[in-house]
Amino acid sequence: MTDLQAILDGIHTELSPRIGEGKVADYIPELAKVDPKQFGMAIATVDGDVYSVGDAAIPFSIQSISKVFMLTLALGKVGESLWKRVGREPSGSTFNSIVQLEREEGIPRNPFINAGAIAVSDVVLAGHEPREAIGELLRFVRYVADDETISIDDRVARSETQTGFRNFALANFMRAYGNIHHPVEHVLGVYFHQCALSMSCQQLAKAGLYLAARGSNPITGHSVVSPKRARRINALMLTCGHYDGSGDFAYHVGLPGKSGVGGGILAVAPGIGSIAVWSPGLNKVGNSQLGAVALEMLAARTGWSVFGD
Ligand code: GLU
Repeated sequence: MTDLQAILDGIHTELSPRIGEGKVADYIPELAKVDPKQFGMAIATVDGDVYSVGDAAIPFSIQSISKVFMLTLALGKVGESLWKRVGREPSGSTFNSIVQLEREEGIPRNPFINAGAIAVSDVVLAGHEPREAIGELLRFVRYVADDETISIDDRVARSETQTGFRNFALANFMRAYGNIHHPVEHVLGVYFHQCALSMSCQQLAKAGLYLAARGSNPITGHSVVSPKRARRINALMLTCGHYDGSGDFAYHVGLPGKSGVGGGILAVAPGIGSIAVWSPGLNKVGNSQLGAVALEMLAARTGWSVFGD
């Protein structure tokens, strides 16, 4: 039996001298204030155990990791027809790029770059007021994590609303192509609030369990999506979850994963468990620098890569 606690403790000890590496996202003023010297990691297994180390109980801004939950909701709402509005290919460009959108006539490459996620938020918004769509997401995340204390950090949402000029540009651009159906301020209101979800590594690891366990939370028995849908969301995370660092993450870690500019990464070991890591300093492509290293160490020590040990 692998001693997961010992593995986490070992990773933490080895990385301790490096904690603080990377650069916190400073284009969102509220995130620029976060102390980079933090590191937490948690594993929730399909057997119901939770292991953690470091700052794993401290809530942080999950940012783009929320795109996984919003995608799950949108697929539940409109099913496969979602793919008429968003592609499923790695983008190979930065997370907030507008160039590709013009060439591809307003259809974003995948649901995990900003443009794609904004289109997905527009889908979830259909038939709702923005407040209701945000409430739906919050209820969903609390349900999958089985934790009613999860909340949204309004200061982060406000900070992004005041400074998210590129996201306004992306949304307006897609609206011009007819790929955004609601007022841009409403869609971005939903998008900025989803990004401002505040969760700890422990909460996030538990929230990702349905992706590790064929669509159901094995602890609560809550059925979330079908096994086929869980498999497909994992496939998208593997190929598109780290912007233009997705290939590198697959190469080094070999697990479906989704990163956020708050410094978190959610990774899935299908059939085994869900892992969350947080360290606010980012690398050049906007993924948690130490988070990726920690996951590489974990995958090497457990043999959990989906490509074999
Ligand atoms: N809220 C961020 C933005 O839209 C999300 C980016 C990320 O986490 O990668 O810029």
